[in-house]
Amino acid sequence: MENAERLLLDLVDAGHLVPMGIDGMYGRGAAFEDTLLRFDAYISRSAKDDGATLVRFPPVINRRDFERSGYLKSFPHLAGTVFSFDGTPAEHQHLLETVEAGGDWSATQKMTGAVLCPAACYPIYPTLRGTLPQNGRLFDVFSYCFRHEPSKDPARMQIFRMREFVRISDGDSVRPWRNMWIERAMELLTAIGLPAVSAVANDPFFGRGGRMLAANQRAQELKFELVVPIASEESPTAIMSFNYHQEHFGSTFGIQTSDGAVAQTACVGFGMERVTLALFKYHGMRVDRWPDSVRRVLWG
Ligand code: ATP
Ligand code: ZN
Repeated sequence: MENAERLLLDLVDAGHLVPMGIDGMYGRGAAFEDTLLRFDAYISRSAKDDGATLVRFPPVINRRDFERSGYLKSFPHLAGTVFSFDGTPAEHQHLLETVEAGGDWSATQKMTGAVLCPAACYPIYPTLRGTLPQNGRLFDVFSYCFRHEPSKDPARMQIFRMREFVRISDGDSVRPWRNMWIERAMELLTAIGLPAVSAVANDPFFGRGGRMLAANQRAQELKFELVVPIASEESPTAIMSFNYHQEHFGSTFGIQTSDGAVAQTACVGFGMERVTLALFKYHGMRVDRWPDSVRRVLWG
């Protein structure tokens, strides 16, 4: 059996993940959820003096903003869109008969104004159209995110939570801010016994053009990840990402600095489920048996 599948079985046996009959979608058990929320509180403590503005969006984004964001250019294979029934009683009858016969009822569905949120930072940029205050902005966001990448690897879910800090300002402040977070995050993870390593990374861009985009992203060191072996030693899993978008969101959504330049953005994202899974993988399935040093940090 693959390591990933064995880990998944252990997590299910321990009640940490509750299978829903679709790869990559699970309920979370009490100890899993408690650990994830304790890690979330630990992040908050580490960032408490940064002065970030907290906003919580539902796990959807306005379809028009999503279309403008460029996500469909780079990741059409990962997006999940919300459709709904909007027909006549006769069409309703047809819908029920098709479902009853086990057929394809997608033709009875119409696109709505909602798209599932692909990354916790996406809903914030469209709200910032216009001119930023002098030192730019800093946000704290947290959301369930959807990506259509079904897998038996418990660390590759279709719906999972991301806690992110997002900096919107000029390039001179955005890049050092991201680099500060790489150091800070390494310390945070080391203190809870996770052997994280930082590495230059790229996004899973779609198609032939994607290879060039990925090479460019690496050459410019626009994306870093902190990786830890979870399901496999050879290809460790990214539990955190640090992305420098340059002017992408600033120009797409018309955001300017107080000097009138196009704003630059960067985000720092914690994969909340992946960090929690890594904790169970490294310290065992029973939280009461975790090392004192780790419990002191998370349980206080
Ligand atoms: P990967 O390279 O593993 O596909 P990514 O580069 O697409 O990840 P980001 O878009 O940077 O990831 O997402 C931010 C964080 O969200 C990642 O560092 C990771 O911890 C988490 N994450 C991404 N995809 C998943 C997933 N399918 N399941 C659980 N967590 C995920
Ligand atoms: Zn982001």
